Amino acid sequence: LFGQVEAFAGDPILSLNDAFKADPRTEKVNLSIGVYTDEKGRIPVLRAVKTAYERTGFAERPYLPMEGHAGYREGVQKLVFGDGHPARAEKRIATIQTLGGTGAVGIAADFLAKHAPGRTVLVSDPTWENHHGLFQRAGFTTTTYPYWDRANRSVDFDGMVKAFEAAENGSIVVLQPVCHNPTGVDLDERQQEAVTDVLIAKRHIVVFDMAYQGFGTSLDEDAAFVRRYARRASCLVANSFSKNFSLYGERCGGLSVVCRDADEAERVLGQLKLAVRRSYSSPPMTGGLLVATVLGSDELRAQWAGEVETMRTRMDSMRKLLAEHIRALSNEIDVSFLLNQRGMFSYTGLSAQQVDTMRERDGVYLVGSGRMCVAGLNEANVPKVAKSFVEAQAR
Ligand code: PMP
Repeated sequence: LFGQVEAFAGDPILSLNDAFKADPRTEKVNLSIGVYTDEKGRIPVLRAVKTAYERTGFAERPYLPMEGHAGYREGVQKLVFGDGHPARAEKRIATIQTLGGTGAVGIAADFLAKHAPGRTVLVSDPTWENHHGLFQRAGFTTTTYPYWDRANRSVDFDGMVKAFEAAENGSIVVLQPVCHNPTGVDLDERQQEAVTDVLIAKRHIVVFDMAYQGFGTSLDEDAAFVRRYARRASCLVANSFSKNFSLYGERCGGLSVVCRDADEAERVLGQLKLAVRRSYSSPPMTGGLLVATVLGSDELRAQWAGEVETMRTRMDSMRKLLAEHIRALSNEIDVSFLLNQRGMFSYTGLSAQQVDTMRERDGVYLVGSGRMCVAGLNEANVPKVAKSFVEAQAR
């Protein structure tokens, strides 16, 4: 019956993670998958989340509503838009609990396929690969806008703006507002404003995908682009709690659609619920309760914000440490990119061949594109990574 079914090539990053696990070398270093680990290489259990788990315990498990837990949805809105945002005050935001950031982008794509069909979807070059996959699954054709300026290891701002200007009016544009995956380079505030002007003038539909809020500068500053944009125009915002709550396997995220008025938001919410119903009926409860409990308690929220700050500062200090170690070994390599990029990832500029060399010879695993997950660095492995990095470039 299924004899013609083709083998799945696997996800390149997840396959690399499997190869890492199977590697017998004890000194191996995993800088491939996008998971935050602490200085001991463990995925942290945040104290605020553990307290929430103890408080909520395990009681009955009815279905959550299609749109998710009410306290969770309120928590998403406050965190993403800030408490005093005018769109919130005017009840113009439709928010649902989703299955991680992936589920949020997926429901956004399904919603747009029905209510804004036939448009071109523009995603950054490069981007999180699933942006293409999720929008194509919903029936869209995807294309890219320039983003990575290889020569300067920064954003190709002019190329990006030109692409938005050249795209047909009303195209769908996916933007990562902070800690861009995979490059680690973001727009500065002036660039954000300039891009906003173009996007609004062209009446493009913007889907913000914010998977790393709190890993750039701070929870509030990382959301500033989204908040300013949402003061000026309607947009969709997907957010993930996988990284900033360290709740990868619980699948916690949110999708918010900023509308023109409360009536529109009510109707949009209904359509989001329908999209959820047709896909998986309702989101899961355990992770939802954890996030809702933390975000709904001033004390736990403050503790959690401190823990996000700890993860962020550790990644920043690892960037600095790696840069110092590389400099000590070679003054021919410009390491400023490591310090200018933000969040979990750094595009190193290494070629696929150099990445292969680091993996095969030294057991240092990066993604083939040259993306390094800086959260996998720690004081013990930085000297080894620096040496491998310098030697790979010398060849
Ligand atoms: N968007 C981007 C840009 C991401 O990097 C990721 C996670 N790697 C996601 C969405 C998906 O998030 P989640 O793991 O919460 O589904």
